Amino acid sequence: MDRIHIEKLEVFARHGVCSEENSLGQKFLISADLYKDLHEAGKTDELTATVHYGKVCEFITKIASENTYKLIEKLAEEIADKVLIKFDVDRVKIRVDKPWAPMLLHVDTVFVEVERQWHTAYISIGSNIGERENIINDAIKTLDSFEEIRVSAVSDIIETKPYGVTDQPDFLNGCLEIRTLLRPGELLAELLLIEASFGRERKEHWGPRTLDLDILFYDSECILSHDLVVPHPDMQNRMFVLKPLSQIAPYFIHPVTGEPVCRLLEKLESREA
Ligand code: ADP
Ligand code: MG
Repeated sequence: MDRIHIEKLEVFARHGVCSEENSLGQKFLISADLYKDLHEAGKTDELTATVHYGKVCEFITKIASENTYKLIEKLAEEIADKVLIKFDVDRVKIRVDKPWAPMLLHVDTVFVEVERQWHTAYISIGSNIGERENIINDAIKTLDSFEEIRVSAVSDIIETKPYGVTDQPDFLNGCLEIRTLLRPGELLAELLLIEASFGRERKEHWGPRTLDLDILFYDSECILSHDLVVPHPDMQNRMFVLKPLSQIAPYFIHPVTGEPVCRLLEKLESREA
Protein backbone atom coordinates (compact mmCIF):
# COMPACT_ATOMS: atom_id res chain seq x y z
CA MET A 1 0.00 0.00 0.00
CA ASP A 2 1.21 3.53 -0.78
CA ARG A 3 1.92 5.77 2.18
CA ILE A 4 2.80 9.30 3.16
CA HIS A 5 5.51 9.28 5.79
CA ILE A 6 6.17 12.11 8.26
CA GLU A 7 9.42 11.62 10.15
CA LYS A 8 10.08 13.00 13.63
CA LEU A 9 7.96 16.12 13.75
CA GLU A 10 9.28 18.07 16.77
CA VAL A 11 6.65 19.18 19.28
CA PHE A 12 7.21 20.81 22.64
CA ALA A 13 4.61 19.37 25.05
CA ARG A 14 3.91 18.42 28.66
CA HIS A 15 3.08 14.69 28.68
CA GLY A 16 4.44 12.50 31.44
CA VAL A 17 3.77 10.81 34.75
CA CYS A 18 6.07 13.14 36.76
CA SER A 19 4.65 16.54 37.72
CA GLU A 20 7.90 18.23 36.56
CA GLU A 21 7.24 16.91 33.07
CA ASN A 22 3.79 18.48 33.16
CA SER A 23 5.10 21.87 34.30
CA LEU A 24 8.44 22.13 32.49
CA GLY A 25 7.62 20.21 29.31
CA GLN A 26 10.05 18.61 26.87
CA LYS A 27 10.42 17.82 23.19
CA PHE A 28 8.59 14.88 21.63
CA LEU A 29 9.23 13.53 18.13
CA ILE A 30 6.15 12.33 16.29
CA SER A 31 6.20 10.20 13.15
CA ALA A 32 3.21 9.20 11.08
CA ASP A 33 2.47 6.86 8.20
CA LEU A 34 -0.75 7.58 6.33
CA TYR A 35 -1.66 4.60 4.15
CA LYS A 36 -3.52 5.66 1.05
CA ASP A 37 -3.68 4.77 -2.62
CA LEU A 38 -1.71 7.63 -4.22
CA HIS A 39 -2.27 6.54 -7.81
CA GLU A 40 -4.80 9.28 -8.61
CA ALA A 41 -2.58 11.99 -7.07
CA GLY A 42 0.37 10.60 -9.03
CA LYS A 43 -1.62 10.76 -12.28
CA THR A 44 -3.42 14.08 -11.82
CA ASP A 45 -0.85 16.09 -9.82
CA GLU A 46 -3.77 17.51 -7.80
CA LEU A 47 -3.51 18.23 -4.08
CA THR A 48 -7.20 17.34 -3.66
CA ALA A 49 -6.39 13.73 -4.61
CA THR A 50 -4.04 13.26 -1.66
CA VAL A 51 -3.65 14.28 1.98
CA HIS A 52 -1.97 17.64 2.70
CA TYR A 53 0.98 16.63 4.92
CA GLY A 54 1.49 20.22 6.11
CA LYS A 55 -2.06 20.25 7.49
CA VAL A 56 -1.48 16.85 9.12
CA CYS A 57 1.68 18.18 10.83
CA GLU A 58 -0.19 21.26 12.12
CA PHE A 59 -3.04 19.07 13.35
CA ILE A 60 -0.72 16.66 15.19
CA THR A 61 1.19 19.58 16.75
CA LYS A 62 -2.08 21.03 18.03
CA ILE A 63 -3.22 17.73 19.61
CA ALA A 64 0.18 17.12 21.23
CA SER A 65 0.74 20.66 22.53
CA GLU A 66 -2.80 21.52 23.68
CA ASN A 67 -3.34 18.40 25.81
CA THR A 68 -1.46 16.88 28.73
CA TYR A 69 -1.46 13.11 29.05
CA LYS A 70 0.41 10.83 31.43
CA LEU A 71 1.28 8.30 28.76
CA ILE A 72 2.69 8.54 25.27
CA GLU A 73 0.44 5.52 24.57
CA LYS A 74 -2.55 7.85 25.14
CA LEU A 75 -1.02 10.57 22.96
CA ALA A 76 -0.36 8.11 20.12
CA GLU A 77 -3.91 6.70 20.35
CA GLU A 78 -5.50 10.17 20.34
CA ILE A 79 -3.43 11.29 17.34
CA ALA A 80 -4.26 8.10 15.41
CA ASP A 81 -8.02 8.35 16.03
CA LYS A 82 -8.25 12.07 15.33
CA VAL A 83 -6.18 11.86 12.11
CA LEU A 84 -8.41 9.01 10.88
CA ILE A 85 -11.52 11.06 11.64
CA LYS A 86 -10.27 14.32 10.09
CA PHE A 87 -8.36 13.19 6.99
CA ASP A 88 -9.38 10.93 4.13
CA VAL A 89 -7.21 7.98 5.04
CA ASP A 90 -8.08 4.39 6.03
CA ARG A 91 -5.11 3.33 8.12
CA VAL A 92 -2.40 5.15 10.07
CA LYS A 93 0.70 4.26 12.01
CA ILE A 94 1.72 6.77 14.69
CA ARG A 95 5.02 6.71 16.55
CA VAL A 96 5.75 8.99 19.52
CA ASP A 97 9.39 9.23 20.62
CA LYS A 98 10.33 10.65 23.99
CA PRO A 99 14.14 10.66 23.78
CA TRP A 100 14.66 13.12 26.64
CA ALA A 101 12.51 11.36 29.24
CA PRO A 102 13.90 12.14 32.71
CA MET A 103 15.78 8.95 33.65
CA LEU A 104 19.19 8.49 35.24
CA LEU A 105 20.11 6.03 32.50
CA HIS A 106 21.09 6.61 28.92
CA VAL A 107 18.85 5.49 26.08
CA ASP A 108 18.93 6.79 22.53
CA THR A 109 15.16 6.99 22.45
CA VAL A 110 11.98 5.47 23.85
CA PHE A 111 8.91 5.29 21.67
CA VAL A 112 5.49 3.74 21.30
CA GLU A 113 3.97 2.96 17.95
CA VAL A 114 0.33 2.17 17.24
CA GLU A 115 -1.43 1.20 14.06
CA ARG A 116 -5.14 2.02 13.77
CA GLN A 117 -7.69 1.83 10.97
CA TRP A 118 -11.33 2.11 9.99
CA HIS A 119 -13.12 -1.24 10.20
CA THR A 120 -16.21 -2.33 8.28
CA ALA A 121 -19.06 -3.94 10.19
CA TYR A 122 -22.56 -5.06 9.25
CA ILE A 123 -25.36 -4.56 11.76
CA SER A 124 -28.90 -5.90 11.72
CA ILE A 125 -31.56 -3.59 13.09
CA GLY A 126 -35.08 -4.56 14.13
CA SER A 127 -38.09 -3.29 16.04
CA ASN A 128 -41.56 -4.66 16.80
CA ILE A 129 -42.93 -2.37 19.51
CA GLY A 130 -43.95 1.29 19.32
CA GLU A 131 -43.32 3.66 16.43
CA ARG A 132 -41.14 1.08 14.68
CA GLU A 133 -40.18 3.18 11.66
CA ASN A 134 -39.26 6.25 13.71
CA ILE A 135 -37.32 4.14 16.17
CA ILE A 136 -35.25 2.56 13.39
CA ASN A 137 -34.58 5.89 11.66
CA ASP A 138 -33.63 7.57 14.94
CA ALA A 139 -31.36 4.68 15.91
CA ILE A 140 -29.53 4.97 12.57
CA LYS A 141 -29.09 8.72 13.16
CA THR A 142 -27.81 8.06 16.68
CA LEU A 143 -25.25 5.58 15.38
CA ASP A 144 -24.09 8.01 12.73
CA SER A 145 -23.72 10.81 15.29
CA PHE A 146 -20.70 9.15 16.93
CA GLU A 147 -17.36 10.39 15.61
CA GLU A 148 -16.06 6.81 15.60
CA ILE A 149 -19.00 5.40 13.62
CA ARG A 150 -20.07 6.25 10.07
CA VAL A 151 -23.17 4.64 8.59
CA SER A 152 -22.08 3.93 5.00
CA ALA A 153 -25.07 1.96 3.64
CA VAL A 154 -28.65 1.27 4.72
CA SER A 155 -30.81 -1.48 3.22
CA ASP A 156 -34.55 -1.25 2.63
CA ILE A 157 -36.49 -1.72 5.85
CA ILE A 158 -38.83 -4.69 5.43
CA GLU A 159 -41.80 -5.98 7.43
CA THR A 160 -41.29 -9.55 8.64
CA LYS A 161 -43.09 -12.18 10.69
CA PRO A 162 -41.59 -12.85 14.14
CA TYR A 163 -38.88 -15.54 14.31
CA GLY A 164 -38.53 -18.06 17.16
CA VAL A 165 -41.29 -16.78 19.44
CA THR A 166 -44.09 -16.24 16.88
CA ASP A 167 -46.82 -14.96 19.22
CA GLN A 168 -45.82 -11.27 19.03
CA PRO A 169 -46.23 -8.29 16.66
CA ASP A 170 -44.56 -8.19 13.22
CA PHE A 171 -41.08 -6.68 12.94
CA LEU A 172 -39.47 -4.06 10.80
CA ASN A 173 -35.97 -5.24 9.90
CA GLY A 174 -33.02 -3.92 7.98
CA CYS A 175 -29.24 -4.01 7.78
CA LEU A 176 -26.56 -1.36 7.93
CA GLU A 177 -22.99 -1.14 6.81
CA ILE A 178 -20.87 0.96 9.13
CA ARG A 179 -17.28 2.09 9.20
CA THR A 180 -15.95 2.27 12.72
CA LEU A 181 -12.85 2.88 14.82
CA LEU A 182 -14.36 0.90 17.72
CA ARG A 183 -13.15 -2.60 18.58
CA PRO A 184 -15.84 -5.34 18.47
CA GLY A 185 -16.40 -5.31 22.25
CA GLU A 186 -16.62 -1.51 22.31
CA LEU A 187 -19.06 -1.57 19.38
CA LEU A 188 -21.28 -4.13 21.16
CA ALA A 189 -21.26 -2.00 24.35
CA GLU A 190 -22.31 1.05 22.31
CA LEU A 191 -25.11 -0.90 20.57
CA LEU A 192 -26.45 -2.15 23.92
CA LEU A 193 -26.46 1.43 25.27
CA ILE A 194 -28.36 2.64 22.21
CA GLU A 195 -30.88 -0.23 22.61
CA ALA A 196 -31.35 0.77 26.27
CA SER A 197 -31.77 4.45 25.37
CA PHE A 198 -34.69 3.44 23.11
CA GLY A 199 -36.36 1.73 26.06
CA ARG A 200 -35.29 -1.83 25.32
CA GLU A 201 -35.93 -4.18 28.22
CA ARG A 202 -34.49 -7.70 28.17
CA LYS A 203 -37.34 -9.87 29.39
CA GLU A 204 -37.36 -12.92 27.17
CA HIS A 205 -34.97 -14.25 24.55
CA TRP A 206 -36.38 -13.60 21.08
CA GLY A 207 -39.23 -11.64 22.73
CA PRO A 208 -40.73 -8.32 21.58
CA ARG A 209 -38.32 -5.37 21.54
CA THR A 210 -38.35 -1.67 20.73
CA LEU A 211 -34.90 -1.99 19.21
CA ASP A 212 -32.49 -4.83 18.46
CA LEU A 213 -29.01 -4.18 17.10
CA ASP A 214 -26.84 -7.21 16.33
CA ILE A 215 -23.34 -7.39 14.90
CA LEU A 216 -23.41 -9.67 11.84
CA PHE A 217 -19.83 -9.24 10.60
CA TYR A 218 -16.82 -7.26 11.80
CA ASP A 219 -14.30 -7.16 8.96
CA SER A 220 -13.59 -10.85 8.35
CA GLU A 221 -12.94 -11.53 12.03
CA CYS A 222 -14.15 -14.61 13.89
CA ILE A 223 -14.87 -13.85 17.55
CA LEU A 224 -16.06 -16.33 20.13
CA SER A 225 -16.42 -14.99 23.66
CA HIS A 226 -19.00 -15.26 26.43
CA ASP A 227 -20.83 -12.10 25.36
CA LEU A 228 -20.03 -11.79 21.67
CA VAL A 229 -20.09 -14.22 18.77
CA VAL A 230 -19.19 -12.88 15.30
CA PRO A 231 -20.19 -13.70 12.59
CA HIS A 232 -23.64 -13.81 14.20
CA PRO A 233 -24.16 -17.57 14.71
CA ASP A 234 -27.79 -17.70 13.51
CA MET A 235 -27.68 -15.29 10.59
CA GLN A 236 -27.67 -18.03 7.92
CA ASN A 237 -31.12 -19.15 9.21
CA ARG A 238 -32.72 -15.72 9.28
CA MET A 239 -34.47 -14.48 6.13
CA PHE A 240 -35.03 -11.10 7.84
CA VAL A 241 -31.24 -10.72 8.05
CA LEU A 242 -30.10 -12.22 4.74
CA LYS A 243 -32.64 -10.40 2.53
CA PRO A 244 -31.65 -6.84 3.54
CA LEU A 245 -27.98 -7.79 3.98
CA SER A 246 -27.79 -9.16 0.44
CA GLN A 247 -29.03 -5.78 -0.82
CA ILE A 248 -26.03 -3.93 0.60
CA ALA A 249 -23.35 -6.66 0.75
CA PRO A 250 -24.24 -9.50 -1.66
CA TYR A 251 -20.63 -10.55 -2.26
CA PHE A 252 -19.30 -10.22 1.27
CA ILE A 253 -17.76 -13.59 2.14
CA HIS A 254 -18.86 -15.22 5.40
CA PRO A 255 -15.47 -15.89 7.05
CA VAL A 256 -16.55 -19.25 8.52
CA THR A 257 -18.56 -20.87 5.70
CA GLY A 258 -16.59 -19.19 2.90
CA GLU A 259 -19.80 -18.36 1.02
CA PRO A 260 -20.99 -14.93 -0.16
CA VAL A 261 -24.12 -13.50 1.46
CA CYS A 262 -26.15 -13.90 -1.78
CA ARG A 263 -25.38 -17.65 -1.76
CA LEU A 264 -26.48 -17.95 1.91
CA LEU A 265 -29.75 -16.27 0.92
CA GLU A 266 -30.28 -18.63 -2.05
CA LYS A 267 -29.68 -21.64 0.20
CA LEU A 268 -32.15 -20.43 2.82
CA GLU A 269 -34.75 -19.64 0.12
CA SER A 270 -34.50 -23.13 -1.34
CA ARG A 271 -34.69 -24.66 2.16
CA GLU A 272 -37.84 -22.67 2.93
CA ALA A 273 -39.50 -23.21 -0.47
P1 ADP B 1 -31.17 -11.73 20.11
O1 ADP B 1 -30.72 -10.52 19.35
O2 ADP B 1 -30.53 -13.01 19.62
O3 ADP B 1 -32.65 -11.85 20.22
P2 ADP B 1 -30.62 -10.32 22.53
O4 ADP B 1 -30.53 -9.06 21.71
O5 ADP B 1 -31.67 -10.37 23.58
O6 ADP B 1 -30.67 -11.57 21.60
O7 ADP B 1 -29.23 -10.64 23.23
C1 ADP B 1 -28.20 -9.77 23.18
C2 ADP B 1 -26.98 -10.39 23.81
O8 ADP B 1 -26.40 -11.30 22.89
C3 ADP B 1 -26.00 -9.28 24.04
O9 ADP B 1 -26.03 -8.86 25.38
C4 ADP B 1 -24.68 -9.85 23.62
O10 ADP B 1 -23.84 -10.04 24.74
C5 ADP B 1 -25.01 -11.20 23.00
N1 ADP B 1 -24.40 -11.33 21.67
C6 ADP B 1 -23.59 -12.33 21.27
N2 ADP B 1 -23.20 -12.17 20.01
C7 ADP B 1 -23.78 -11.03 19.56
C8 ADP B 1 -23.74 -10.32 18.31
N3 ADP B 1 -23.02 -10.79 17.25
N4 ADP B 1 -24.43 -9.17 18.22
C9 ADP B 1 -25.15 -8.70 19.26
N5 ADP B 1 -25.24 -9.32 20.47
C10 ADP B 1 -24.54 -10.47 20.62
MG1 MG C 1 -29.70 -8.71 19.83
